[in-house]
Amino acid sequence: MKRSIGIVACLLMATACAPMGEAPQTASAVAAATPPPEISEETLRSLTETLSSDEFEGRAPGTPGEELTVNLLADRFAAAGLQPGNNGSWFQDVPLVEITANPETAAFSYSHDGTTTSLDYGTDAVFWTKRVVPQIDVESAELVFVGYGINAPERNWNDYEGVDMEGRIAVILVNDPDYQTPTNEGLFDGRAMTYYGRWTYKYEEAARQGAAGAIIIHDTEPAAYGWTVVESSWTGPQLDMDAADNHMGRIPVEGWFSNEAARALFTAAGQDYEALTAAAREPGFRAVPMGVTASAHLDNSIRREASRNVVALLPGSTRADEYVIHTAHWDHLGRCTPVDGDDICNGALDNATGTAGLVALAEAHAAAGPTERSLVFLAVTAEESGLLGSAYYGENPVFPLAQTVGGINMDGLNIIGPSRNVVVVGYGKSELENYLGRAAAAQGRNVEPEPTPEKGFFFRSDHFSLARPGVPMLYAESGENLVDGGRPAGRAAAEDYTVNRYHAPADEYDPNWNWAGAIQDLELYFAIGRELADSTDWPNWNPDAEFRAARDASRAAAQ
Ligand SMILES: [Zn+2]
Repeated sequence: MKRSIGIVACLLMATACAPMGEAPQTASAVAAATPPPEISEETLRSLTETLSSDEFEGRAPGTPGEELTVNLLADRFAAAGLQPGNNGSWFQDVPLVEITANPETAAFSYSHDGTTTSLDYGTDAVFWTKRVVPQIDVESAELVFVGYGINAPERNWNDYEGVDMEGRIAVILVNDPDYQTPTNEGLFDGRAMTYYGRWTYKYEEAARQGAAGAIIIHDTEPAAYGWTVVESSWTGPQLDMDAADNHMGRIPVEGWFSNEAARALFTAAGQDYEALTAAAREPGFRAVPMGVTASAHLDNSIRREASRNVVALLPGSTRADEYVIHTAHWDHLGRCTPVDGDDICNGALDNATGTAGLVALAEAHAAAGPTERSLVFLAVTAEESGLLGSAYYGENPVFPLAQTVGGINMDGLNIIGPSRNVVVVGYGKSELENYLGRAAAAQGRNVEPEPTPEKGFFFRSDHFSLARPGVPMLYAESGENLVDGGRPAGRAAAEDYTVNRYHAPADEYDPNWNWAGAIQDLELYFAIGRELADSTDWPNWNPDAEFRAARDASRAAAQ
């Protein structure tokens, strides 16, 4: 994905002007005295331009654009002096299954009191099945409004209490009940999004409840993206990891309603949308059968394919069996809904920049000579389809996860110039923030929590796939406090990207981009990677972080 424009922090001048002799000999001063790595702007520019060119067709997994992309990456890693990481191969096969619903025959209608309303596929609703079957029919299933669709026993909250969902369709609000709270305090962490707020969770829980369908009501603010993103993301070919059970454990129909279509449904059902959504935020909410039945039909074409992660290695000099990992997704959306006749979602910022950054970082580490531990550079596939490439790596790691010290993810570099701050997505979760703090201080930059934890970005890029099984992962990048223009300028640039380019054909390379901020972030990642790879440290998740238990267990098993 990549949600806001990377906005960074650089302050090259501030560090260069600081008199070295006056600095106390802290770790940060030592880091500052280390010669700066050669992060190649030429690599960043040329690779981003090539990867996001129309020839690469938006880098969709399984297309000729994948072939061009993974071969180019392997060539660049080889040229930089890295080794193929997967037992002599640059690639890790990732088995995928692609399901494409026929938009001409996709149908969803609901009936109340003898009146039937058919929804327009794409405009009013998007829906699909993850079951690997040629056809799905759901007939006259009752709609049940289940509020936020959350069953969280540890928080004493169950939106499904007392309702049997067998054969029924859940209608679900996006995000979690206290997302409008101004602080991060609350039953569901206040405005910060918990995993319960994610659409992935809502479909998983509806499946556990035995539902025949699960439809999420779109709303731009709590979803953190507009309807066009939902429409472009969920129509056309849909990828998933291939599985022996053909995903028959998934619910037959998953989908989204546009907010307008959802309100019309509630009105047609004689239900008060505002009152019910308000009730859903309160403890003790009970699911409401809507007195409406719905039918859905889907015809699927099914294609199996193998996509590839690219795995490159710089072996460590003394502890080569311990690894520091860097990740970036190489894929993007490929051909997409045309805008002004342009149907290629080039994904220049998202994530040609991060992929180019991965190569530039590898080049810099290779040039600096070996570290004690090994450095891994993993370009993953199918992030845009649900973190599939990284999830596959997490379940089938090339290098043991217990031996993977930690890692850094890149998803969208800063191309709007230096900023004064570094923002941590998922702030407060791991000890890697200590390393970040030292490296950022050496650059004269402040480290801050992400400004919008309510958007759940922590769950939306590839670091999450490795965090879930316990590997400490850092996702930090330039904040909005631009050296030139401060926060207003940074916020305006982020807003402009979200509205005009995010997941759209207009996310294209621009030769006028300012790479100084990206380079400063890459210097930060370089410093952190170097320190980790030359140390004997095993940084962990903080005690209250949700991934701490997984890490403790995997490390204990490895020792
Ligand atoms: Zn991305």
